Amino acid sequence: MAMTYPVERASRNGGVTAPEDHEQSAGAEVPVGMDLERICRAVREILIAVGEDPDREGLRETPDRVARMYAEVFRGLHQDPRVHLRKTFTQKYDEMVLIKDIHFESFCEHHLLPFTGKAHVAYIPNGTVIGLSKIPRVIDVLTKRPQMQERLTEELADLLMKELDAQGVAVVMEATHSCMTIRGVHKPDSSFVTSAMRGSFKERLATRSEVLSLIFGGRP
Ligand SMILES: [Zn+2]
Repeated sequence: MAMTYPVERASRNGGVTAPEDHEQSAGAEVPVGMDLERICRAVREILIAVGEDPDREGLRETPDRVARMYAEVFRGLHQDPRVHLRKTFTQKYDEMVLIKDIHFESFCEHHLLPFTGKAHVAYIPNGTVIGLSKIPRVIDVLTKRPQMQERLTEELADLLMKELDAQGVAVVMEATHSCMTIRGVHKPDSSFVTSAMRGSFKERLATRSEVLSLIFGGRP
């Protein structure tokens, strides 16, 4: 038996504690260590370097806007994902817990272009469980950094394994990368799937097959 929880877009705003920080970046607090001025100067330099006039009307506020956007999408660099895993509950449940379809957005570190997709995370507890919203919150911190999907998948699995002291953790991430769709090879329909299996998911084929069929089963 496994418990399956579909989560729709639960990662949105997940890692941000400020209650006023909703959809908008405007007014979002700037993390300490984020140098907005410096980003502004750099963006202005890029505009000049590509042959644009950063002082024309349409571009005048662009460096500032981009700086605030970077502060938002890279805020995870200044956050510790472990804080979301501190509060655990003692529960005699040692079957699989699966959270499916956790929407995420991140930026590839090679091109600084977004990649977006879904994460599916399962764990087998070892006497302690965590609140359902915690895994999306952890994902929100890890994805708000320049990332590589392969590393992101492994970081998440290792972090959960360690912090939850779980018997096993399985992470599957599927995403579309803008650097594959809007430039380079231009393959708009390609999706990139990565997985990381730890503990019993790695050791036992039956457990791994079970989680994969729960994640992908029923799909055409
Ligand atoms: Zn890329």
